[in-house]
Amino acid sequence: MKKLLIFGIIAVLLASIGVVMAKSVVAPPKFVSYQPPESQLTKTVFIRYAPGREPATCGNGVCEPREKKTCPSDCTNNGEEPPETTCFGFLVGSKPRLNWLEDYYYSDSSLLGPSSLAVSIWEYPVLDDIFGDGIQGTYSWGSYDYVNSISFGDYDDTGMCPTADPCVIAVTAIWSRGKNIYEYDIMFDTDFFPGGKEVAYDLETVTLHEFGHAAGLDDIYDETCSNNVMYGYYTIPKTTLGSGDITGITTLYGESP
Ligand SMILES: [Zn+2]
Repeated sequence: MKKLLIFGIIAVLLASIGVVMAKSVVAPPKFVSYQPPESQLTKTVFIRYAPGREPATCGNGVCEPREKKTCPSDCTNNGEEPPETTCFGFLVGSKPRLNWLEDYYYSDSSLLGPSSLAVSIWEYPVLDDIFGDGIQGTYSWGSYDYVNSISFGDYDDTGMCPTADPCVIAVTAIWSRGKNIYEYDIMFDTDFFPGGKEVAYDLETVTLHEFGHAAGLDDIYDETCSNNVMYGYYTIPKTTLGSGDITGITTLYGESP
């Protein structure tokens, strides 16, 4: 009888452990329970330019490549960031990051591979998952609709480029406040993607960089950092993180044991 009782207790214990384990694998909520109104958020837009086609127009409100040190009126966050020689930086001094596992929606099936690769590369050195799952669905870039979106589209670069040629290859918009990122939208410009339209750039490389922004990392323009994914200029296909990238992402999300 005693044995039966002990067996019963063990069975109940095992069952409850099973319940706990089953609970821990339940998918996290898809969206943040509370999304502040857009008026309370800061919208940051990162623009990726084709190599050799980067503009530099001080005073247009856009922090463009090569303006980081020369145009404080456009690059207002400059003073808050660590020196660029550390090869990593954050959106703003408060280091906003993704604090909820939110899924992202890709508009075209060709974007799933590069997106999930980027997610796995950024998550490898950190303690927890950063991003949710990729789900097919079309949402517009640049509008605050509580949906993280990955899409192709034509960013209007009229008057931005140094020549008549298109110059924007990708753009990422991020809505943040304090320590939280509430939404990110990534768009690959149809002047360059899908591959080989204007000049062929590696979609996996560009996707990895844009997801770095989505996670809360800034562009780095110091040439000594050029082997990092978050280096602001497209150089060569690059699908491994540099030491600055790893320090940046683990500063935000913790280090993998
Ligand atoms: Zn960038």
